Amino acid sequence: MQAVCWYGPHDVRVKSVPDPYIEDSEDVILRVRLTAICGSDLHIYGGFIPGMKKGDILGHEFLGEVVEIGSAVKSLAVGDRVVVPFAIACGRCVSCRRDLWALCDNSNPNAGTLDTLYGASGSGLFGYSHLYGGFSGGQAEYVRVPFADIGPLRLPPHITDEQALFLSDILPTGYMAAENCELRAGDVVAVWGAGPVGQFAIRSAFLLGASRVIAIDRIASRLDMAVAGGAETIDFMQEDVYDTLMDLTGGRGPDACIDAVGLEAHGSGSALARYDRVKQAMWMATDRLQALRQAIHACRKGGVVSIPGVYGGFLDKVPMGAAFAKGLSLRMGQTHVHRYMAPLLAHIEAGSIDPTFVISHRATLADAAEAYDTFLKKEDACTKVVLRP
Ligand code: NAD
Ligand code: ZN
Repeated sequence: MQAVCWYGPHDVRVKSVPDPYIEDSEDVILRVRLTAICGSDLHIYGGFIPGMKKGDILGHEFLGEVVEIGSAVKSLAVGDRVVVPFAIACGRCVSCRRDLWALCDNSNPNAGTLDTLYGASGSGLFGYSHLYGGFSGGQAEYVRVPFADIGPLRLPPHITDEQALFLSDILPTGYMAAENCELRAGDVVAVWGAGPVGQFAIRSAFLLGASRVIAIDRIASRLDMAVAGGAETIDFMQEDVYDTLMDLTGGRGPDACIDAVGLEAHGSGSALARYDRVKQAMWMATDRLQALRQAIHACRKGGVVSIPGVYGGFLDKVPMGAAFAKGLSLRMGQTHVHRYMAPLLAHIEAGSIDPTFVISHRATLADAAEAYDTFLKKEDACTKVVLRP
C-alpha cells in the first residue's frame, strides 16, 4: 500500500510499504477513506518529537471502512464506516474506567521510556513516535486499529466523511479545551492560536456559555475565520497582547485562557521569545512558550488556563509565581477523544456544529509532502488539509 512516511525533519515521503494485518484478535483493518494533517504532526515534521524512526507511518486523524476483522471483535462488521480516536485505549484499565482514555494503562507497549521520563506513560497513539507505542498511522491506504470494540465510532450514512473526520481529534480537542475552562454564562475566554484546534475551541466556548471569545494569532485568514465564528481578535505582531486583553476586559483579564499553540509558539520580538528560540535551536530546551506565558500572565485572578497545545519537555521561565499568586487552575493533556465522539456526532447531526468550515485544502495522499510544507508555512491561507488515499 501507499503511506506517508517520516524520514527526518521536513522530510516526509509517500512510499510503498507492506499492508497491515490483524496482529491481535481485537484488531480491525480499515481501508482509509479520508485522513488529515494535524498541528501535532507538524511537531513531528519539525523534528521536535523524539522517538521517531525513519519510515514510520504518520497520521492520527482518519476515517475508513472496515475490511478485515479480528476474531474477538464483537461490535463491528466488514463494510462498517468508522471514525477512530487518535488515542488508543483498552477500555478496561483503571484509567479507561475513569473516562481518562488518553491515559490508558495498557495500550502503550513501550511505556517504559515515558515511565522513566514522565513518571508514567499515557496511552498509545497512532503515528506518534515509538515513545507512544510505534503504532503505524492513518495517512495511508490501510491502517490497523487495535481494541476495535472500544475506539471506532460507526457513522450514520447521512453524515459525510468530511463532517465526521475531525471527531478523531481536533473537534473533541477544541471542545475539551473549552470544557476544561469550567465556564459560567457570560464568561470571557481568550484563545491563543487560531489554528483548527483554536477554531473549535472558540465555537465550543460559545456553546458552553461564553459571552465573548478573543482569538489571538498573526495569520489574517485564521483571524478572519475566528471572526466568522463570533470572536474578537488580536494580532500579536501588531498589538501588545496583555494590554489589549486588559482593555477588552475592563482591566480584569479573561476568565479563562486557552493555549491552542503549544511548543512551537512564534515570538513577537520579545526578549523571552528570542531566548526560547535560541535555546530550542541549540537543543538546550524542548519547547517555546510565549503563548503559555502570556496566557498565565493575562488570566484573571482565580481563572483557568486550559492547555490543549502540546508540550514535550522541561519548560523554562514559566511564570509559576503569577499562576500561584493569582490562584489559577491549570488544565491540560491529550484529549480523551472517546468521551466526546458520540455527543459531538449528535451536535453534528443536529446542525449545531459543522466542522467542515476549517478545511482549506483537499489533496490526495500522493501530494502529502507538498501538503505538509504548505500547512507548516501556513501558505495559501491553509488552515487544514484533508488527504484522500
Ligand atoms: P496549527 O499549527 O495549525 O495552529 C497553531 C496556531 O498558533 C497558528 O495559527 C499559529 O500562527 C499560532 N501561533 C503561533 N505562535 C503564537 C503565539 N505566540 N500567540 C498566538 N498564536 C500563535 O495547529 P493546530 O492543529 O491548531 O494545533 C494547535 C496545538 O494543539 C498544537 O500544539 C497541537 O499539537 C495541539 N493538539 C493537541 C491535542 C491534544 O490532544 N491536546 C490534539 C490536537 C492538537
Ligand atoms: Zn492531532
